[in-house]
Amino acid sequence: MALYPIAETFFSIQGEGCHAGRRAYFARLFGCNVKCRWCDSRTAWEGLPDRRMSESEIAAEAAASLAEFAVITGGEPCMHDMRPLLSALSSVNVAAHLETSGTLRIDESGDSRFDWVAVSPKLFAPPLESSLARADELKFIVSDLRELGEYENFYPAALNAKSVWIHPVWSGISDPDLLEGICEFVKSKGGKYRAGWQMHKCYFAR
Ligand code: SF4
Repeated sequence: MALYPIAETFFSIQGEGCHAGRRAYFARLFGCNVKCRWCDSRTAWEGLPDRRMSESEIAAEAAASLAEFAVITGGEPCMHDMRPLLSALSSVNVAAHLETSGTLRIDESGDSRFDWVAVSPKLFAPPLESSLARADELKFIVSDLRELGEYENFYPAALNAKSVWIHPVWSGISDPDLLEGICEFVKSKGGKYRAGWQMHKCYFAR
């Protein structure tokens, strides 16, 4: 049995990426090795965890909700051994999605695999090539349009990504230059590039 440090668990909608709008159970695990200056989930790595839960407790809570899948997020979930949790979620037929910075190895083996992996790389903490290759989608948070060119360095390794989301940083959602720049970038690139949004915040949801 594993005991996971928990920042919070909740039932909401997925607000980002290809699964936006779908009902999701979130398990936000405590601890992060990246510690972004602008982090909007600081309670996931500052102070102490809210509680600890076993993999079966998390899986039971997810299964009891009306969620279509469970999102394992953080903090940085890959600081913890994901295999017991993946096995427990599979045993209750709940699909497992991962949200990670990509800086640590995504620990999958045999049947213990994520159904969906979203990697959100940070420029100051580059992701592993193996994480980029595993990503089903990439998500870049942009506060300055000059970052777009630097993020492009990560694209070639993301061989399996179905989409590459460019999100304005939340504090920049009223900045017309930033929004127009993202829009023009997506239009000029075509392919897998998408203009993204944190939709759950518009719904005042977590
Ligand atoms: S990687 Fe995510 S959880 Fe960790 S500090 Fe950065 S934004 Fe926050």
